Amino acid sequence: MGDRVRAAEESTEEKPAAPVIVRPQPATSNRTAADALSGPSADPARRADAAGLGGPGGNRAVAQLLSPAPGDPAIDWIESLPAHIKQQIDNFGAAQEKAADAGNQKLADARTRNRHTFMDTMRWAMGDDDTVIQQHFQAIASIDVGGGEELWAHSSTRERLAAVKAELEAQGIPMPQTTVGLGMRGDHLNRGNKGRTWFTHAVGFAVDWRAYQTPRITDDKLITLFDVVTGGRPDMKTSVEGDTRIDLEIKMGQGKADPAEAKKLLDSVDAEYTRLTQASETFKTDLPKETLDRLGEVEQARFAVGTARRALARLKARKKPKAATADEIAAGEKAITDAQANYDKLVAAIVPDLPKLFEPWTKKIDERIAVIDREFADAGVDEELLTSDYGLKDREAKARQVRKDEAALAKAKIKDEAKLAQLHQRALDLDEDLAKRRQYRTETKTALGAKKVQALIDEKFKLITLRGLKEGLISNANGFVFRTKLATDDPAIDQLLGLMPENRGGFFTPDAAGGEAQAQAGQFSGEHGYGLAFIKSMVSHGFEAGMAWRGGSDPMHFELAEGRKFLKTGGKSPLGSTP
Ligand SMILES: [Zn+2]
Repeated sequence: MGDRVRAAEESTEEKPAAPVIVRPQPATSNRTAADALSGPSADPARRADAAGLGGPGGNRAVAQLLSPAPGDPAIDWIESLPAHIKQQIDNFGAAQEKAADAGNQKLADARTRNRHTFMDTMRWAMGDDDTVIQQHFQAIASIDVGGGEELWAHSSTRERLAAVKAELEAQGIPMPQTTVGLGMRGDHLNRGNKGRTWFTHAVGFAVDWRAYQTPRITDDKLITLFDVVTGGRPDMKTSVEGDTRIDLEIKMGQGKADPAEAKKLLDSVDAEYTRLTQASETFKTDLPKETLDRLGEVEQARFAVGTARRALARLKARKKPKAATADEIAAGEKAITDAQANYDKLVAAIVPDLPKLFEPWTKKIDERIAVIDREFADAGVDEELLTSDYGLKDREAKARQVRKDEAALAKAKIKDEAKLAQLHQRALDLDEDLAKRRQYRTETKTALGAKKVQALIDEKFKLITLRGLKEGLISNANGFVFRTKLATDDPAIDQLLGLMPENRGGFFTPDAAGGEAQAQAGQFSGEHGYGLAFIKSMVSHGFEAGMAWRGGSDPMHFELAEGRKFLKTGGKSPLGSTP
């Protein structure tokens, strides 16, 4: 609840929207695409699209969608884009693209429709000049990052990345390798209430590096835990924030920034980098050895299941010198069963011990809870009863829903009278509770003043987070401590502790130093390069670093500040000259 409250109360203008990690578009099956885009219910889908567009896009957009006509945006140029970009615009896999080309009319229609929706989204994001949109997407291309891999980005971004690469290589540091750049994820077809700046990956301004080493952290519980253990937040506090930083980065990228301001920003990046890397290490080593060993044992057992599964798959695929025998396969299957049983046994044994294993942390959490409890006691306020606007709205919505259910049930042919009475009573109870909470809030406000009440409500949010954090640690609720796989967003504690064998862990774990030979050869590196020099060079060349996003830090993410502003202003702020 606390998380949702905070998310709701944070103004999007104060904090850059934090895009989630973008990976290459998963290829949807033909069937799914046919069903979703042009399948059995093509017409209703089309009407739903039109309804969605009616508000933001206006009548013109609706008319365009429903009746392709001479007034439609030109989309023929999309056909000549590289397949990588085209498939993202079309939201198609390669096979679907081929089928549409080969005369599958439903897919071909879906493709045309998606291209029109794409143009509509881009007109909204970049301004109404279709030539600008066309030229923008024609300027997106790939960078060869070695090993047959590519990174796709807009020319503005590629140029700056090349400058960063050269600057690093001059210091003997290789450019860190990544393939995560241009990524539409279908968001251009269904933009919902996303802001324009959400689309930095979709138009080739954003690039992600080392998602598992520097995961995105937005869960208040993790942010709080990091603070409890290390005494600071997991995001970077820079000398300037928000649009002021974006404007400074734009100037830095163009070589026009005030040197003192630029230095201040880079110095703050420097200091915060040191704090974050050290705190991340502290976090990994803070718990007693016994706790780390027990958790590590569970992770090793989990990993062993995967290893056994892969071994069996290899065995089954074997052709030379001869195919696997039935006995070999049976042994492989038994290895999986045994590994799984061992994992299940360890998990069952560790869960009851979690309160003891995490005691050093839960003690600190309890201390913080006690401080807040005391604040409420000193103020003479009932912490449970004092309710935030969010809490009131949430309860109002619940009461509305119950009344709706009640009304629906009352209209039913066969009435369930007992259930009806139950719903009616529930609605009355909710109303009574709401009235009590409203009255309590009013009375408290009269007694203590609005400012104090707001301060207490803020403390209550912290309390909810602290309690949720403790609960997560001692019960593994929602896989808070361990789960079955790595995550790039709000990972499990085990991953952050570096106990999962697949990964080095940590909140913020830069690459190990090294890679001089790769730097000299001008090669990208999968193991080296992501570190302080890289981050500072990126900022110096006009990139906004997601690690500086407060409350939703995204350290893997960088985006061209000019590009962000270009989108934020609907295409008015230029790329490549003074804004
Ligand atoms: Zn990103």
